[in-house]
Amino acid sequence: MSKISFFDQVNHYFDRAASYTKFKKGLLEQIKSCNTVCHFTFPLKRDDGSIESIHAWRAEHSHHKLPTKGGIRYSLEVNEDEVKALAALMTYKCSVVDVPFGGAKGGVRIDRRNYSEAELERITRRFTFELVNKRFIGPDIDVPAPDYGTGEKEMGWIVDTYTAVHPSLNAEGCVTGKPVALGGIRGRTEATGRGVFFGVREACDQGDDMKKLGLTKGLEGKKVIVQGFGNVGYHSAKFIMDAGGVITCIAEYDGAIYNENGIDVIELDKHRKETGSITGFPKAKALSSTLEALEMECDILVPAALENQLHKGNASKIKAKIIAEAANGPTTMAAHDIIKERGALIIPDNYLNAGGVTVSYFEWLKNLSHVRFGRMDRRFEENSNRRMLQAIQDLTNRTISEDEMYMLARGADEQDIVDSGLEDTMMTSYNQINDIKNEFGIDLRTAAFVSAIRKVAVIYEKMGIFP
Ligand code: GLU
Repeated sequence: MSKISFFDQVNHYFDRAASYTKFKKGLLEQIKSCNTVCHFTFPLKRDDGSIESIHAWRAEHSHHKLPTKGGIRYSLEVNEDEVKALAALMTYKCSVVDVPFGGAKGGVRIDRRNYSEAELERITRRFTFELVNKRFIGPDIDVPAPDYGTGEKEMGWIVDTYTAVHPSLNAEGCVTGKPVALGGIRGRTEATGRGVFFGVREACDQGDDMKKLGLTKGLEGKKVIVQGFGNVGYHSAKFIMDAGGVITCIAEYDGAIYNENGIDVIELDKHRKETGSITGFPKAKALSSTLEALEMECDILVPAALENQLHKGNASKIKAKIIAEAANGPTTMAAHDIIKERGALIIPDNYLNAGGVTVSYFEWLKNLSHVRFGRMDRRFEENSNRRMLQAIQDLTNRTISEDEMYMLARGADEQDIVDSGLEDTMMTSYNQINDIKNEFGIDLRTAAFVSAIRKVAVIYEKMGIFP
């Protein structure tokens, strides 16, 4: 059986959507192709003195906007096809949510659990050095970020290495998802999960769509299964739970747990930190396999792990009415068609997990402007609000307590601005792709691709290359 590659799969989705546009074949080919990809091999001296060859890649899919943008993942699955596919998804994702970057992605083929922190630091710093040398990183060239298996610690090593070898005014903007002390932004760590929540909430607020699925309007009370309890899975589950969704099941690579009355994900996270695993959580039942979790009865299934988790082999057994793609590429094309045929709603990755890159964009803006959001106007806003409330108090003889005054008057700080910018982005983009879905009678994924193709194509057309 010939297996279709991940990049081919993304391109098939693209082609399907392109048939709803009128752009010329050559232009569509240009948008689709991966502009550059580089394979790096470098030595790692391990703590025991032995030498290992490390393989890493960086793909820049599209330079229609600069810099290019996308995470760096550490996983054994990393290969050239995967980074190209993920870089392409970044191009379309940025375009769907109007984040002005081309798409990129990088990866190092390692299982991070097999390396000490010192080894991970050596790998990350050496990879950064290679990226600098090949001009694959820079605030105006290509800006990495966290992805599967990486986080703010790695981003800290990257900015430190880059700044050391390439000191410049805007050097901090060479990577996003950094610790706040190194130029990061408040709200970036939870951004992808928060964005997933906003997207799911927006979908559940479409009364007509919910009716077609046999569901009530609104997120509250909906039963949710989350696959993957990393940064994205945890935060998606937490924000959905805070809004009244019931997290009935969580699956990880080493086991799955179930409680039909809901799992408190904050308690579960505590348990995981103490024991190293979600299994054995006293307030939930263990399931026989993580695969069983995907097939349980629920309203919403959130795949938040790696790609190709929903495939031909399990798609027909999945009962969820809404598939909320928090991961990149979790659904193969065959599975997409089977799930769609059943009438379920798929909220696609190239829209739904865009919260991470959206807040990365805010972080990059902060780095280039050298000022924290809210720094210039927070106090001014608060003082004007106080003057206004004082006047209302004088006019109405109603006393406003100091607590009330604080709540009503306080100016927006960085976290407030980031969260509201993210909320606005996710809501606006959902409505854009939903309108395209309704206009052509197509699914939301195809609609998101149509939206992306239109926005990228217009840029090429304006360049005058494809008149
Ligand atoms: N790795 C994340 C993604 O796949 C974030 C990318 C970024 O912030 O550049 O969207």
